[in-house]
Amino acid sequence: SGTTRWLRNTLRVTARAANNGGADVVGYLSDVTREMQEQLQRQQVTTLLTLGEMATGIAHELNQPLTSISFAAQNASIKLARIPDAIKAQAPGIASAAEKLKRVVDQTMRASRLIEHMRIFARNQPQSATPISWAAVLDSALEILIAKLSDCTVLRDIPADLPAILAAPIPLEQILINLISNAADAYNTALPGLPRPILVHASADGGTVILRVADRAGGIPPNVLPRVFEPFFTTKDPGRGTGLGLALAFGTVTELGGTITAANADGGAVFEIRLPACYPTARS
Ligand code: ADP
Repeated sequence: SGTTRWLRNTLRVTARAANNGGADVVGYLSDVTREMQEQLQRQQVTTLLTLGEMATGIAHELNQPLTSISFAAQNASIKLARIPDAIKAQAPGIASAAEKLKRVVDQTMRASRLIEHMRIFARNQPQSATPISWAAVLDSALEILIAKLSDCTVLRDIPADLPAILAAPIPLEQILINLISNAADAYNTALPGLPRPILVHASADGGTVILRVADRAGGIPPNVLPRVFEPFFTTKDPGRGTGLGLALAFGTVTELGGTITAANADGGAVFEIRLPACYPTARS
């Protein structure tokens, strides 16, 4: 079938001939593919857990220097602001330095927010469910994905009066991060310079909130489509894909009493999540 199987070859000498050095040997081959796959999966889980621990550790270590940078830049800004206007007028470099310091402060604050986010993300503590809007979840997900999405355009269409859903925010954010970064990955083989839209559309239907994440990157091949929610199923290179993102998304959505489906439409993949609305609006 073109697949690779792992075989274990076992041999036993059952009898030795007395003089000529010959022997009777019984041997068998067993198919240990499943065992090997499980071993690989265990290794992958261990790697992910270690990465999670490392991320938490790095986040913790980075907080201190970032706070110092931010304080130092703010102090320097205050000192620059105290310089009399007459002196500032003669030294235009002061205004430009003040502007650069402001950027240092803004960017360190952004880095701190990201790190704090990462810490909550990696802490892996069960969060309690609260009414939450897809718009807020998308904002947080995009903040984390900003670097990855530099070539893509996220087109969001989430009505302001969309009903909330009752869930813990981090698992939902993980789902969106995964769906959006999969869409960005799907554009990897696309020609440079062409538009790379990722559409995030939400709507309400009765007591159900529907969220769709779609791309125009060519879609999911027919032989891959039925397997995308399988744990450890990935078509990405080792080290790039874990095959866990959609399986975890499936688990989270199912636990919340919803559904997640994958399909192809308009030249790309479409993932649709349906969850019970927490506060049905008058209209719905
Ligand atoms: P991973 O991203 O680590 O491979 P996922 O569970 O997130 O794991 O995805 C499983 C597989 O589903 C991917 O390897 C890819 O083959 C397919 N897939 C997911 N999203 C898309 C998409 N937007 N377009 C094409 N294929 C996709």
